Amino acid sequence: MNSFEFKIHEKDRGSRARLGIIRTRHGNIETPYFVPVATLATVRSLDGYDLHTLGVQCTLANTYHLHSKPGDETIRMLGGLHRFMGFDGPIITDSGGFQAFSLGFGREHNINKVGGVFPEGRTTEEKRENLTRIKDNGIYFKSIYDGTWHFLDACQSMKIQSNLCSDIIMAFDECTSPLSDFEYTMKAMARTHEWAKQSLDYHDKSQAIYGIVQGGWFEDLRQKSTEFISSLPFDGIAIGGSLGNCKRDMHEVLEWIVPKLDDRPRHLLGIGEIDDIFECVQRGIDTFDCVSPTRIARRGNVYLSPESGGSLENKFRINIKSPKFREDKNPIDSQCQCSTCRQYSRAYLRHLYVSKELTYFRLASIHNIHFMLKLMEDIRGSIRGGEFLELKDRWLEKN
Ligand SMILES: [Zn+2]
Repeated sequence: MNSFEFKIHEKDRGSRARLGIIRTRHGNIETPYFVPVATLATVRSLDGYDLHTLGVQCTLANTYHLHSKPGDETIRMLGGLHRFMGFDGPIITDSGGFQAFSLGFGREHNINKVGGVFPEGRTTEEKRENLTRIKDNGIYFKSIYDGTWHFLDACQSMKIQSNLCSDIIMAFDECTSPLSDFEYTMKAMARTHEWAKQSLDYHDKSQAIYGIVQGGWFEDLRQKSTEFISSLPFDGIAIGGSLGNCKRDMHEVLEWIVPKLDDRPRHLLGIGEIDDIFECVQRGIDTFDCVSPTRIARRGNVYLSPESGGSLENKFRINIKSPKFREDKNPIDSQCQCSTCRQYSRAYLRHLYVSKELTYFRLASIHNIHFMLKLMEDIRGSIRGGEFLELKDRWLEKN
């Protein structure tokens, strides 16, 4: 049996926000929590020591990519993901179903998930090859590495996640696209429901398992999926798939789902911009995962708190490559206590960035991850103190 447990300590009076703790066999996650993503068993540019120093409580690794390289059997032989990546906290793995979207429709239509779960995130009209074939029994993937075809079904996904030895696993699902119509989304949802039952049958019982609610941005499908997935004995509920055309649609989708859920933990897959975090915590989400902090860091973007000039308008970021930081002696954010801000100036970081020095990526990622973790700590503190909505207004300037 798995030793998974979720306790809610506090519910906010003015919203659905809640304060809790998830207990796993590798330690606890205080919620609400932002889970940094370690796609290929690394939060990019950081190692297990950095994660420990930053106080990262949990990471999320990618089943499909680790199955492709170095191979889940290899990771099992090397003692499992925790030992492999030198991180001894709770690890979540996704099911591989997200790649049905990212390597399929998402790739073909150039829609990406970060900042572009929504079609407005499309970068170009140019089409690329769809690398998936989706059948009722599972998904065929054409490898991005060597072009060979591989098959993934619920049984395989559970076996891979067992080999990875993660603490929380996801049921196998099909993540649909914002461009999928009602008919298609309904078919995909039916497949996801069948695979949810199979995942419960086949999964490694020492791992906690979350079911994934699908149904795109169709109210009746989301409600059906919510009812079905939450009727099954999952340890937690994840919300996946298309969340509509804009952020307001995403809030609406959550309103269709969350009020129907019980007190099990709720994870929102692939969302993590700062305003999203506030809006989704308010609507009752406990955990999030997103590659955003390290991905934007690699492009020169570093987070800024409201006290240092961060706002909804500048997405709480500055771009460090700007010439105006050439002689700036200040840290990225004078409010920030991370090791980067305590030691280095904006001028130094800009110098590293424009010189393409690898150290830049590590220092910027440390700042961005620290920033998100501190934000979540402040959010938890605000729920505890009964002032979550005040904190949200302060950040988003919606007084
Ligand atoms: Zn910092």
